[in-house]
Amino acid sequence: MINWEQVENEAVEILSRYIQIDTTNPPGNEIKGALFLKERLEREGFECVVLESEKGRGNIVARYKGDGTLSPLLLLHHIDVVPAEADKWLHPPFSGKVLDGEIWGRGAFDCKSLGVMELMVLLLLKRYGFKSRRDIIFFATSDEEAGGKYGVEWMVENHFDLVKTEFVINEGGLAGFSVNDKSLYLCQTAEKGVCWVRLTFKGTPGHASMPNGKNCISDMATAIERISKYQSRLQQSPITVRLIEGLAKEQSFMEEEEFMGLLDNASSSRVIDRISDKGLKTILNTMLRNTFVPTVVQGGKKTNVIPSACYCEIDCRMLPGENPESIIGELKAALGDITNFDLEILGSSTPTESKIPTELYSTIEKCTKRHDPEARLIPFISSGATDSRFFREKGITAYGFAPLKIGESLSSHLEKMHGHNERISVESLRYGTKVLYDIVFDFCR
Ligand SMILES: [Zn+2]
Repeated sequence: MINWEQVENEAVEILSRYIQIDTTNPPGNEIKGALFLKERLEREGFECVVLESEKGRGNIVARYKGDGTLSPLLLLHHIDVVPAEADKWLHPPFSGKVLDGEIWGRGAFDCKSLGVMELMVLLLLKRYGFKSRRDIIFFATSDEEAGGKYGVEWMVENHFDLVKTEFVINEGGLAGFSVNDKSLYLCQTAEKGVCWVRLTFKGTPGHASMPNGKNCISDMATAIERISKYQSRLQQSPITVRLIEGLAKEQSFMEEEEFMGLLDNASSSRVIDRISDKGLKTILNTMLRNTFVPTVVQGGKKTNVIPSACYCEIDCRMLPGENPESIIGELKAALGDITNFDLEILGSSTPTESKIPTELYSTIEKCTKRHDPEARLIPFISSGATDSRFFREKGITAYGFAPLKIGESLSSHLEKMHGHNERISVESLRYGTKVLYDIVFDFCR
């Protein structure tokens, strides 16, 4: 029998120390985190491979051998964290302070806690001599927060044999937040693609005291206004239908049938307006349509000079099924008769999706319910990209699922993620470790 009290103490101690290793990206310095994990793994007899894609950019892989009857499962998390403004925190972001049942610091949620849960699962399986039918691969990586170039992308390109698998559990799920006293567990099964574009407008330069009617700044302003007001059409997919059907039963904002109006182009916006949870509102809106958001504006140097050129940049996010070509077509259509610009793609990633249900999805569902009978597992499409996309592009099933207990509204949780005062409750860490242990145990036995 596993002594969960002891596991909790151990997990808290490891997470606290892991947070104290500053892996802010940039520059990352993930190697320090990788070596910390290596020491913990080797202490219990695991062999580890540590690889640096560039100096300081560490990645680590360890493997729990199965008998090979079934295909491998990979447990993924990233070592790097986003920057923290220390003066805005109640406790220093790299203190790993344990206070009143909470562990404080950057990475407490995103995503060192998941890493510790995965590590604990591996250690427990080994300590109890678990006979696995699958290889279980532990993979901690760098650079997720800046796009994965030195992390998963590099590993998949250069050392695919080490991380080759059929199933991945990664970050990206939103677990255990409450709607109407019931816990909802969102499993990320797809993510939107990104397309960043720059629109450059050209005009006739001149002295501002003599307006010439060809001011590129005004043209750009009209374009930005159109893009801001534009709303893309609603797109249904099996995932969104399942999500909205699932939510409709649990929510208390309105009648179930009315809530289903989210899937109808005519009523969708009206229904969204009536949802009072800000976080949920944002998630639903981004899952149902492509989005276009102007984010950068550059032009003009002097107040009395009409510039010859100016530009703006637009962050476009596309749903599965779209590609850069189709999203740019939509952007151009939204701009209508405004065509006097040059368009440049600054970067893009394709949307990715994993099928449901699979054996892994069903196992996650079953184990979640075992620990929380009222729980409901719902698939969702995230608007941001995670490392899962590199695996999905190879046809590997990847799910974002961290079985934590958020126990608060989605909006306040989302604020904490990359914001100030990031922290996780000890209870949540223990709960998550238990659920993940069950998932891996059931899936691999
Ligand atoms: Zn993350």
